[in-house]
Amino acid sequence: MASLNCPPSNHVSVLDGQGWVGLVDHLGDEIVIVNAARVSFGKIKQRMDASDVQLLHYLLENKHTSPMEHLVFTFSVHCPLFVRSQWHRHRTWSYNEISRRYTEIDLEFYLPVRLRRQADNNRQASVDDPAFDGTEIVAAMRGHHERSLELYNELLARGVCREQARGVLPQNMMTTFWATVDLNNLLHFLELRDSEHAQWEIRQYAVAIKKLVKPLIPNVAAYFAARGQDWG
Ligand SMILES: Cc1cc2nc3c(=O)[nH]c(=O)nc-3n(C[C@H](O)[C@H](O)[C@H](O)COP(=O)(O)OP(=O)(O)OC[C@H]3O[C@@H](n4cnc5c(N)ncnc54)[C@H](O)[C@@H]3O)c2cc1C
Repeated sequence: MASLNCPPSNHVSVLDGQGWVGLVDHLGDEIVIVNAARVSFGKIKQRMDASDVQLLHYLLENKHTSPMEHLVFTFSVHCPLFVRSQWHRHRTWSYNEISRRYTEIDLEFYLPVRLRRQADNNRQASVDDPAFDGTEIVAAMRGHHERSLELYNELLARGVCREQARGVLPQNMMTTFWATVDLNNLLHFLELRDSEHAQWEIRQYAVAIKKLVKPLIPNVAAYFAARGQDWG
């Protein structure tokens, strides 16, 4: 049996190689979207042609979203807990996550390579300041991770149950979950999370997802790219 903490073969590394997102499975491609839109005529096609691309653009333009719901993607995500919390606010996805009630192995902590300053004018934002040398602070964070792991292991050794001992592990702890979503809700997620309003870390995952799904939805990607979104 393989470990859940190993990325699937089709994955993109993020967070300086400490995290990843992989495409585990998918259902449907762009022809499914236009076939779904034409279900009312009782006809289906096997291959996209220029008129189908036009119809696809019309659906996107006019927010005819239900045909998009027939494409489904399952991702495996390896990320820090705080990214997981942000991600799981997207209620239209289905999730299954590794449980720290069951396992205490493979504990890892995300250590930022570079720290950002707190923004002065926006409590939710950060500033990437090249003059900000966080080397010592990063070392302090590493020390904190190590001490929290030591305490966690000590608690287990003293008989404390895993479900309570995990409370001493920090937000930088990595977790792994599966996440399944249809294309309509994926596009909504990508709009919100590949955005300058989103935290840099979750944004890296949104960018990586675009790389993973672009070969499956090239005309959808081209539609949004033509309207200023970055699709690589
Ligand atoms: C930059 C940023 C900052 C954020 N900051 C915070 C924060 O400080 N605190 C915080 O709590 N959250 C925060 N969020 C989370 C945000 O409020 C949303 O919960 C999250 O983005 C998911 O969006 P969503 O509800 O549209 O997506 P989904 O949950 O995937 O839902 C998709 C759509 O389905 C519909 N829908 C889903 N569930 C319901 C429902 N129960 N009732 C009616 N319609 C529904 C809505 O139209 C919704 O837009 C932030 C999000 C972003 C992107």
